[in-house]
Amino acid sequence: MRARMRRYWAEAVEPRLFLFAQLREVPAGLTAMIAVLNVVVGLLPVGFVVATSTVISRAPDAVSGGLGSPAWRELTYAFVVASVLFLLQQQLTPLSVSLGQRLKHQVDGRFQDRLMAASLRTAGITPLEDQASLSNLEQAAEGLEKGNRTPGDAAAGTLALVLRYSRLLGFLGVIGVAYAWWAAAAIGVVTMMFRYGQRGGVRMYTRLWPHRTRYRREAEYFRVLGMGAENAKEMRVFGLADWVGERYRSAALEALRPVWRERRRVSVVNFVWFTAASLVISFLVLASVLRAAAAGDLSLFALTLTLQALVAAVLLGEFYHEADTATQFGMLAARAMDTFERQVSDLADNERRTGRTGSPAPTDPGGLPTREIRFAGVSFTYPGASAPVFDGLDLTLRAGECTAIVGLNGAGKTTLVKLLSRLYDPPAGAVLVDGCDLRDLPIDGWRRQLAVIFQDFNRYELTAGENIAFGAVEAPATSDALRRAAKEAGVLEVLEGLPDGLDTLLTRRHADGEQLSGGQWQRLAIARSLYAVAAGARVLVLDEPTAALDVRAEAAFFDEFAALTRGITTLLISHRFATVRHADRIIVLSGGRIIEDGSHVELMAAAGTYAHLFDLQARRFAEDDAGAAVEVQP
Ligand code: ADP
Repeated sequence: MRARMRRYWAEAVEPRLFLFAQLREVPAGLTAMIAVLNVVVGLLPVGFVVATSTVISRAPDAVSGGLGSPAWRELTYAFVVASVLFLLQQQLTPLSVSLGQRLKHQVDGRFQDRLMAASLRTAGITPLEDQASLSNLEQAAEGLEKGNRTPGDAAAGTLALVLRYSRLLGFLGVIGVAYAWWAAAAIGVVTMMFRYGQRGGVRMYTRLWPHRTRYRREAEYFRVLGMGAENAKEMRVFGLADWVGERYRSAALEALRPVWRERRRVSVVNFVWFTAASLVISFLVLASVLRAAAAGDLSLFALTLTLQALVAAVLLGEFYHEADTATQFGMLAARAMDTFERQVSDLADNERRTGRTGSPAPTDPGGLPTREIRFAGVSFTYPGASAPVFDGLDLTLRAGECTAIVGLNGAGKTTLVKLLSRLYDPPAGAVLVDGCDLRDLPIDGWRRQLAVIFQDFNRYELTAGENIAFGAVEAPATSDALRRAAKEAGVLEVLEGLPDGLDTLLTRRHADGEQLSGGQWQRLAIARSLYAVAAGARVLVLDEPTAALDVRAEAAFFDEFAALTRGITTLLISHRFATVRHADRIIVLSGGRIIEDGSHVELMAAAGTYAHLFDLQARRFAEDDAGAAVEVQP
């Protein structure tokens, strides 16, 4: 029993208290207005029942007294009052609903802002990758994306309960006054038991959520896979439609099965028991009322009133479609967002903790690095991963040099870039820029020093010019600067050939949008990073920058590369040995450790892994007439 009470408290009461606390952010005037209106609308049918009972009870005297008799006049007044109350209810109910909608949008707007702010708050991306925070984010965002079952719905739904419960109290009051208070109390219990049986079914979702999340996520993935334009090509070519459809079905069923099981339990056990008990109590109350009437202890007015109020009160024991689902899921979403905010806040606090070098940090990292970037004893494990990517890595990148990192898939090359750009902080060791811990540098300032193209760079569905200008949003995006960057990346001609030149939207979603090829997008990403360099970035990071370019295009790009990046500290990650051989220094990474370090000539002379992989590529690659290698990955 105690465990049951505790569960009820945790599932039903606590989230509601939390939600009320959230309502503080909404203009109190609107909340108060809806609450008062809902009390009024809630009580209108009570007045209506009193008026119609008067009509019925005065009818015998009015009929015998005829037109003009006092009973007839009373009947007429009561009829007019009943009509007015009825009309008022018809008018005010939609008003209450639309004010509720307004409240919903205000609450949701605030939640949306908070969610966006929390998602972007940390310098790193851990909250968006860590399962613990990610599932809260998903739960909080799901309703907001679809526009239903949101915290705003929960707030409006809670106020809609005011209407229902003031109506219930009104009818119970009528029963108490017209007949007996014990009968009012008994009918109150009956109604609430019906309610508990009905409403309790929705609470089970709270319990089942963790189980459902996994399968719902899986089902959602397969749904997007099957229906999304991005995957349409392979779905057809590989004939995956049936397989994807089956996986979607089984994941969706797996998410639903426990719901069915639990619903059967709730419906059959709770509902049947509560209904049976409620019917017995209702029957006893009804029998007592009729006996009193038969014994002449109850006037016709009191009898009509009691019977009407009794039926109306018991009918309020139903599922409140305007409130129950909305409050349950909306409250869950609100709680999830609160937890997500706290998780993000803890992570942000951690990020703010200063580095361990103790060296005075420049307030403006502009111009850094002048000497070096050093990974000093860096260890790092991805959230939720079992094995570390790095365990005490020591690596120094000399300023102004081009350092190439090579290594097989999974060696840790991209992770290095993420640490350098502070998307993660290493739990042990430090990344030092001219001896200063990255964590001690202002993050925005440091990121302005970086021009990074990730392997999976973003393809913004915006104009071509904006796609380039995002390399340095703070710089004034002059047409000359954008065109220069596009020219250096070898994409200017393509962009100028688009219907609106650099102002062309790069998306298929709009009728006047255009789509670029994979190689053209890659050049656009290169242009973005070169634009950042022109705007003052001192560190250029290129993660597989030319993977989508053909061999000639790649060779041409690297012919210009040295001139474009003179004086810039460059980190070049590539599988293609033809592209890295001209780097000042080549580092071979394997399993998170440096196994070789030197120039192309030195590493070839050392006849180690690099020389072996280089030879392997060189042997298997047909040299084309431009002297560049045709790619086969080592
Ligand atoms: P590379 O760029 O050399 O191919 P990465 O740096 O991308 O290698 O990955 C290094 C290791 O970290 C791999 O074992 C990879 O599976 C793992 N890894 C990469 N990204 C994540 C992530 N977001 N979460 C968990 N593990 C990851």
